Amino acid sequence: MSEIPYKIYLSEEEMPKSWYNLRADMKNKPAPLLNPGTGEPMTAQELEGVFCAELVRQELDNDTAFFPIPQEIRDFYKMYRPSPLVRAYCLEKKLGTPAKIYYKFEGNNTSGSHKLNSAIAQAYYAKEQGLKGVTTETGAGQWGTALSMACGYLGLDCKVYMVKCSYEQKPFRREVMRVYGSSVTPSPSETTQVGKKILAEFPGTTGSLGCAISEAVETAVSNPGYRYVLGSVLNQVLLHQSVIGLESKIAMDKYGVKPDIIIGCAGGGSNLGGLIAPFMGEKLRGEADYRIIAVEPESCPSFTRGKYAYDFCDTGMVCPLAKMYTLGSSFIPSADHAGGLRFHGMSSILSQLYADGYMEAVSVRQTDVFEAAEEFARVEGILPAPESSHAIRAAIDEAMKCKETGEAKTILFGLTGTGYFDLVAYEKYHNGEMINHVPTDEDIAKSLAQLPQANG
Ligand SMILES: *Cc1c(COP(=O)(O)O)cnc(C)c1O
Repeated sequence: MSEIPYKIYLSEEEMPKSWYNLRADMKNKPAPLLNPGTGEPMTAQELEGVFCAELVRQELDNDTAFFPIPQEIRDFYKMYRPSPLVRAYCLEKKLGTPAKIYYKFEGNNTSGSHKLNSAIAQAYYAKEQGLKGVTTETGAGQWGTALSMACGYLGLDCKVYMVKCSYEQKPFRREVMRVYGSSVTPSPSETTQVGKKILAEFPGTTGSLGCAISEAVETAVSNPGYRYVLGSVLNQVLLHQSVIGLESKIAMDKYGVKPDIIIGCAGGGSNLGGLIAPFMGEKLRGEADYRIIAVEPESCPSFTRGKYAYDFCDTGMVCPLAKMYTLGSSFIPSADHAGGLRFHGMSSILSQLYADGYMEAVSVRQTDVFEAAEEFARVEGILPAPESSHAIRAAIDEAMKCKETGEAKTILFGLTGTGYFDLVAYEKYHNGEMINHVPTDEDIAKSLAQLPQANG
């Protein structure tokens, strides 16, 4: 056995005390959010109508490299952090690869994913501001669960709009949120103007993420003492998620390990942006080089087949415009089982880095993802979330290339969460009923044709 332990943990002393803001080291800063009405960059004042003030400050700050993590958030992190960095000895052996594989496992908390890292931060700043509560949307349910845990801990009210089909298909997720004191409303609902309008127009609709966002935003702006929070895509969320990468880097440095390849699944880009942050910082400053790979589903290929342009973040077109790799806000991905990766756009930070050639992207087929998930589960024990399994697929593929060439590369990938609420998807896979949806060029061209005017 090598001297590197199967799991590398950090002591409390070694834990990161600040989040790292990757933007500080980017020469080409991510493009600003635009007001869809005027086409001008969103001001702090405009954003503060919807988001908490401190979070707006973090969102707009492209220059400050480190943001100290408030003590209360660090105390909360101690409940489930550091997350283990695991050397996948068993997987390496099974694959017969000379590659050294490490994964950072973020599923060790009740919400089952990395989303809690940002949820606690966002809830904390809402509380600091003296707000009564927050509103949000949730699709597959991971974000809603994470935010419910954070709000439950801090005694903040939390109103979650859950996409109706998930609300019906995943009653257990809904119940976990209620354990932590959140109210969960299936969206579209009669509780908002936009929900009523959508229901009148499309009776019987099972909802969409874009619609749930519109309802959550309306509820935040029409209730005094409430703000809206979002679990991915935004710069502030990548900032909070940098804790993943910082811990990984500290743990690897401790053993003198340097990854050659860093891999993460990409939905809105928050776990990947967080995992790569300190490594990408070194790359941007010219201190080190890493191959960085974003993995997305073939059914929702924002990086690999999208366009780098200004677009709405929601289908209701109420949110600011973000410049990102997008498939168009009217793009409705087919019913892929990786709910957390079904977003039409991508973080502005990652989009700029991808456009500048600092990272690569691949798209993978759904049945190949579940094959990798099972191969991994059988040797490493963890039941991975379908989203996370995209990264497993790419990591295995890279490890198998090493087997061919005989190169002993070091691979680090992000294992974002567990799949206990995704067993219907596993069931479909086992029964041979899983379909590999791939949008046609025509499908994508159709939604891209509706990009907003701001692109000139
Ligand atoms: C939400 C989610 C993702 C994707 O979101 P990102 O913002 O791209 O990280 C990935 N894995 C899991 C388990 C998730 O819940």
